[in-house]
Amino acid sequence: MSDAIVELRHVYKNYGDVTVLKDINITLEEGKFYTLLGPSGSGKTTILRAIAGFLNVSAGDIMIAGKRVNDLPANQRDVNTVFQDYALFPHMNVFENVAYGLRIRKVDKNSIENRVLDALKMVRLDNLAYREISELSGGQQQRVAIARAIVLEPKVLLLDEPLSALDAKLRKDMQYELRDLQQRLGITFLFVTHDQEEALALSDEIFIMNDSVVQQSGTPVDIYDEPINHFVADFIGESNIVDGRMVEDYRVKFNGKVFECSDAGMKPDEHVEVVLRPEDLDIVPQEKGKVTVSIDTQLFRGDFYEIVAYDDGQNEWLIHSTNPAPEDGTMVGLYFDPEDIHVMRFGESEEDFDARLESYEGE
Ligand code: ADP
Repeated sequence: MSDAIVELRHVYKNYGDVTVLKDINITLEEGKFYTLLGPSGSGKTTILRAIAGFLNVSAGDIMIAGKRVNDLPANQRDVNTVFQDYALFPHMNVFENVAYGLRIRKVDKNSIENRVLDALKMVRLDNLAYREISELSGGQQQRVAIARAIVLEPKVLLLDEPLSALDAKLRKDMQYELRDLQQRLGITFLFVTHDQEEALALSDEIFIMNDSVVQQSGTPVDIYDEPINHFVADFIGESNIVDGRMVEDYRVKFNGKVFECSDAGMKPDEHVEVVLRPEDLDIVPQEKGKVTVSIDTQLFRGDFYEIVAYDDGQNEWLIHSTNPAPEDGTMVGLYFDPEDIHVMRFGESEEDFDARLESYEGE
């Protein structure tokens, strides 16, 4: 096998007749930062708990370092979890919180001292080793929780929405720190979040969950550029999604016109959805545009203008521009390049999508 450290193969989890994980297939390689991203209730935490060994799956295999661990108790799996609420011991100081797992494992005293101080250095808390937990800020408590998990030198660190309790500014800072920490440690992180910006910023690879299923996996750029379905296009970034028909390879019809595009492999005249990202649309004079719209509203968002316009079929178009739009009610054109058009097939699975992409990229 390659350097896969965790594998989920055809994993299902049912509670009574409710299926909360459906045919989950995930491979995590050594030393990479992975994110499970999806709305609340999509199954992210259940995957984490299944890997950690806090719940039994209903079917499928969970492999860690090439061994099936379905029947192995949590404390014998080579993974560690950082929980959302940190779960620190309030009556112990920082050092003792981090040392706890090593004491349980009967590691000798000198090694404990060295390893705890090393772990605290990693999270930049070595100067606060003897502070009480109650005297720490939220961000510092977060770091203690991480130190406590990494001191055991797991091959995989599981992080369950670890930044959700922090305010926006601190959260941003911690994102940089987490990414940096993962690179310095060189171990695999599996991070759970419902925040798409966080996932895009941190991850080598993202698994997008919805309705108990992995909808799409890939690098942040791949997923952003080539969402495979309506859910992913809508969930990752902002999108204009319009109905269309694939006339033939590389030609798609929407808004009553045929446009060149870079997608292929659909059936002739297949009903499709077309995604155009707001930042890929340029406002131009009406005669130079590919679609004609009327400006409805615009808001200044600090680093761009968010402009809403309508075409004559009353479809809404969202445009992000560094320049303000002409005044409300003005008819303008929207210009976009063929490669800005992303065509999605209805109900296409990830495997079918990958196969189709390969079939025409290889041409
Ligand atoms: P997420 O982490 O994406 O918010 P979860 O993995 O926590 O989602 O939950 C997925 C689904 O499983 C939810 O609909 C949740 O209600 C359900 N669920 C989780 N734990 C249990 C349980 N012990 N019994 C029944 N349903 C559960």
